[in-house]
Amino acid sequence: MKNLLKNFFVFLGIFLFIAILFSAFNNSNKTVEKVGLETLINQINKQEVSAIAIYDSELKITLKQGKEEIVKKEINETFSQLIKNFNIDLIKLVDIKIEVKEKEGMSYWMETALPFLLPFLLIGVLLFFMMRSVQGANTRMMSFGQSQAKESNKENKDKITFKDVAGVKEAKEELKEVVEFLKQPQKFVEMGARIPRGVLLLGNPGTGKTLLARAVAGEADVPFFNISGSEFVEMFVGVGASRVRDLFRRAKKSSPCIVFIDEIDAVGRRRGAGLGGSHDEREQTLNQILVEMDGFEPNVNVIVIAATNRPDVLDPALLRPGRFDRRVILDEPDLADRKAILQIHAKKKPLAKNVSLSKIAMRTPGFSGADLANLLNEAAILATRRNKKIIEMEELFESIEKVMLGPERKSKILSEKEKKITAYHEAGHAIVAHFSPHANPVQKISIISRGQAAGFTITLPTEDKHMHTKTEFTEELSVLLAGHIIEQDIFGEVTTGSTSDLRRATNLARKLVTDFGMSESLGLRTFGEKEEMIFLGSDAHEQRNYSEKIAEQIDAEISCFIDKAAHQARGIIKAKKEELEKVVAVLLEKETLEKEEFEEIVGARVS
Ligand code: ADP
Ligand code: MG
Ligand code: ZN
Repeated sequence: MKNLLKNFFVFLGIFLFIAILFSAFNNSNKTVEKVGLETLINQINKQEVSAIAIYDSELKITLKQGKEEIVKKEINETFSQLIKNFNIDLIKLVDIKIEVKEKEGMSYWMETALPFLLPFLLIGVLLFFMMRSVQGANTRMMSFGQSQAKESNKENKDKITFKDVAGVKEAKEELKEVVEFLKQPQKFVEMGARIPRGVLLLGNPGTGKTLLARAVAGEADVPFFNISGSEFVEMFVGVGASRVRDLFRRAKKSSPCIVFIDEIDAVGRRRGAGLGGSHDEREQTLNQILVEMDGFEPNVNVIVIAATNRPDVLDPALLRPGRFDRRVILDEPDLADRKAILQIHAKKKPLAKNVSLSKIAMRTPGFSGADLANLLNEAAILATRRNKKIIEMEELFESIEKVMLGPERKSKILSEKEKKITAYHEAGHAIVAHFSPHANPVQKISIISRGQAAGFTITLPTEDKHMHTKTEFTEELSVLLAGHIIEQDIFGEVTTGSTSDLRRATNLARKLVTDFGMSESLGLRTFGEKEEMIFLGSDAHEQRNYSEKIAEQIDAEISCFIDKAAHQARGIIKAKKEELEKVVAVLLEKETLEKEEFEEIVGARVS
């Protein structure tokens, strides 16, 4: 369709070109003046004319002064008739050179032949383009079933190795083994060991799965076939499977090598769950991958590395021994890892001497490797925009907030009233967080809007945490609800500003009940099976594995958790009214409060 449109415009172009050419020829005549017959008669009578050339439909007059004129006439009216009709003295014609001419050269041909030729020409051009686009489609068709895996070059200069990946120590250890398999397979074979065929990298987005797979290839110095799961999924059934076949054929040829299938969940979802056409295609593709992996002869040294952030949706057949039986988990980086990642990415960036990457690492719990890389990049951009030669601490701190909450929106100006509401709202979060001993301490409060939020309060854990207690969760709930409660208490009604707070609180409360077994009345079990259903493109769908009655109880328990937390928050707000008002006053004046300033107002935290 697009092609057709394109061709159409090409024609239009050609057509216009011809038209312009045409009119240019005609225009060459227009430099001479067109006059009426009467003028000509007059001029002849006055003996001003030196020559007359007679064409079919016009007379070309050359005057004695050198000027040229054109007089139109009827085609079948001859010049002699004209003279007769106008009663011109023949003597006056003696001096005039009279010639009878046919239309000359190019312009004659253009005028006579072009009207006939043009349609043929156009049809010819049309055919030409049609043939061409059909041919293009054909060659595309031919390569359709081939995999589009990109083979990275062995002699790549900026090759990635394990040195470029910080943290994820266990994952690196596991993968070092893989490198050895690739480098010295016979060592393992002699011991009777079976070389693993598939390694599955599991980790949240941005934890460095793709990076690590590249590093393995770099370390092992073997070819690396890189394809994304979604590239197997095409409009036509069977393409995916044929691409898998092609990919593995190529891989086997250049063994030993690594085949890296990124985002394998795009094809490797559990089979048999879901409805709809695209599903069969995925199943076939997945089957083909399994068949290929089973079909490796023992001496073929191809290791398939796959990455996903959705291990829960993978088909169990993929995880069977002999397939992706090695699972390598990439954790979110902890404090030390974050620092190491920052150091790697800061290498090529000029940092000020007083920049402390540990401080940045401390302030970024929950950031993934990709977030950290992004943070440094944002800082570099910020420094450039401020015409600095080096990146300083303030750019880094600002970038943390930018990555966390989206860009600052200074242009979104709040009215006085909105500012006041926001100040109370955020101060509420902060005060409740400060006086709840198990909640994360306040890092920063601001009423400058960022991303979606009108203001924000950042609370950060003092250390990396892997486990959470029920008390921590209930206090977190109180902190989330504080904004809403304070709006109710101070202004008598609530705004839309706490929508996302409430949603987060509800989700958290639901998890406490259904996933963590923290509700006393419902007992020691989880509720709900996360079953992947593909139905008309919509995704996750929770399967109920409990009765209607339990569902009611769950809802009641969620409300109970929220009510308790709200009560707690209200208590703190009442007790700390004085501090609250002070914080609001300073916020309205300064717009942002750092941890130190905040603690100066409300006193140090007791915990
Ligand atoms: P994933 O594939 O897990 O979503 P990527 O491997 O694409 O994540 O990581 C994105 C980017 O984040 C990488 O290109 C790299 O710059 C950075 N990154 C992530 N994890 C690390 C790490 N452990 N060490 C260094 N850089 C990392
Ligand atoms: Mg990736
Ligand atoms: Zn809020």
